[in-house]
Amino acid sequence: MNLDASHGAALGGVRASEITLSKRLRSFLSWPSAEDDPVAKLARAHRSVHPNADIGVLRRSYAIAESMHRGQFRKSGDPYITHPLAVAQICAELGMDTVTLVAALLHDTVEDTRYTLQALTGDFGPEVAHLVDGVTKFDKAFYGKAAEAETIRKMIIAAGKDVRVLIIKLADRLHNMRTLDARSPASRARIARATQEVLVPLCDRLGIQALKRELDDVVLRHLEPEWYERIDQHVKNRPHWAEYLQDVVNQARVVLRRDKIVATVKPRPRHYYSIWKDSVAREQTVPFDLPRIVIVVDGPDTDCYAALGSVHGLWRPVAGRFKDYIAAPKNNLYRSLHTTVIGPGDRTVEVLIRTTAMDRSAEYGIAADFRYPRPGVNAATSAEQLDWLQRVLNWERETADPAQFLQSLRCDLAETQIQVFAEGRPIVLPAGSTPVDLAYELGPERGDHCLAARINGRLAPLSSELEEGDVVEIFTESQAESELDLKVAPPGPRREWLRFVKSPHAQMQINRWFADHQEPGISIADKVRLGRATIGLCLRKHDRGLASDLPLRRLAEQQGYPDLETLLVAVVDRTVDPDTVVEQLIAMVDHQE
Ligand code: MN
Repeated sequence: MNLDASHGAALGGVRASEITLSKRLRSFLSWPSAEDDPVAKLARAHRSVHPNADIGVLRRSYAIAESMHRGQFRKSGDPYITHPLAVAQICAELGMDTVTLVAALLHDTVEDTRYTLQALTGDFGPEVAHLVDGVTKFDKAFYGKAAEAETIRKMIIAAGKDVRVLIIKLADRLHNMRTLDARSPASRARIARATQEVLVPLCDRLGIQALKRELDDVVLRHLEPEWYERIDQHVKNRPHWAEYLQDVVNQARVVLRRDKIVATVKPRPRHYYSIWKDSVAREQTVPFDLPRIVIVVDGPDTDCYAALGSVHGLWRPVAGRFKDYIAAPKNNLYRSLHTTVIGPGDRTVEVLIRTTAMDRSAEYGIAADFRYPRPGVNAATSAEQLDWLQRVLNWERETADPAQFLQSLRCDLAETQIQVFAEGRPIVLPAGSTPVDLAYELGPERGDHCLAARINGRLAPLSSELEEGDVVEIFTESQAESELDLKVAPPGPRREWLRFVKSPHAQMQINRWFADHQEPGISIADKVRLGRATIGLCLRKHDRGLASDLPLRRLAEQQGYPDLETLLVAVVDRTVDPDTVVEQLIAMVDHQE
């Protein structure tokens, strides 16, 4: 008995380690039940979009990430692996491919663990390594102002090569924002604001509304917690809202069926951020929201207009609220018809109408190519469909300085945009743009040589501010001579354009022209130095010298210059004679003494 027991114990010991080993092995290969399998939820989300996906490689990358991050914890106290797993889950729900999910699982390993890029390349191949490497560098650099500029610049360049880098970065930020509660209030506000300033508009430009909605809302929750709570209460406790929407949906279905338009109709709730924006714009403290539905037609684009006709026949449209984003898509390729109607019970209802393809790209933007792969299209590099990204990549090539690049990017991202028409097509520009901005948007040649503009049929100064929907003609030097009988000024842009152009693109093009066409210019700092040296030399003629800037500063003030630097520049620019300045200076100093 005793012997048996000890024998049993010894055997048991062997068995225990065997079991542990086989359990561990099994855990790498398969899980007996969903609860034991940390990758199950991810695999399910991935398979629901890509039924033939290779789940084995997800398990392998999870196992490596988990073992590398073991012992590390999030600020919330959760094991670190919960973060990459959640980031991969976000990517999976977007419908991204297996490579993206693998990279998402591993995205922090190279930066935060002993796992090297070489090892990762060996284990998962160069594609995954490129994605992880891209994200690694951003995170490492994401401290301080200058580092941020470098970070964003790298992110854009990386997106030009493989747009998946940007999608992982956005998913990474979304999860960090969701779990921001564990941080101090100050860093919450700072991170939320940085997200709002750069990543949200970036996400918007990429057209990934599915991601942007949640980023918007989580930013709102951190920056405007009271509003967020108020809207949350409002949305969850409004009487008869769902019934009313269902009635609208049913009536729309009936009329579409009658008109033989195959379509799905469903409610389209606004996200909290958009309710907040409307409420604030109306200076209301009660959340302002309108019932909204979306009609997704099964046929060609023209069916959208047919559906619009049916809807407008059923409910009276509100004047001035119809927008045709099919004929004139937004710059992120968003396409739909928007209208507002007086619905049942005389309540205002918003209606969005689009085709299935439009619906996909409205929801997933650039990620749609991964979710709905098309044969022969490499989704990773098909970013050229986004003019915006290409334009930004062009500036990047033209701007050596990352700080200047970031500033331009920020400007571009911060701008609200308008759409004007030129050469028979819609063109998106930052609000406040002028005909010069438009001319450069049409091409550097048009920009450099633009001389006059006609806005909605009338000649207008080049500095005029364009407005939404303006129809604009740009005349270049040669055209202006023949068609407008204008006297032609010397060719090339004017320096004063820099004072009113709005878009970074136009600014850069004008600067480029002057850099190409003029002697290397002398900077203000150089002029200030040169001016001071000139004054010094003239003073020496009088056997005098300057111990400090103070007398000069006083003279500058006395002579009505805004500051000393302006006086020194004036000396170099020969708008004032250095000898005169020196005489005045001596007189002033001696008079005082
Ligand atoms: Mn991360």
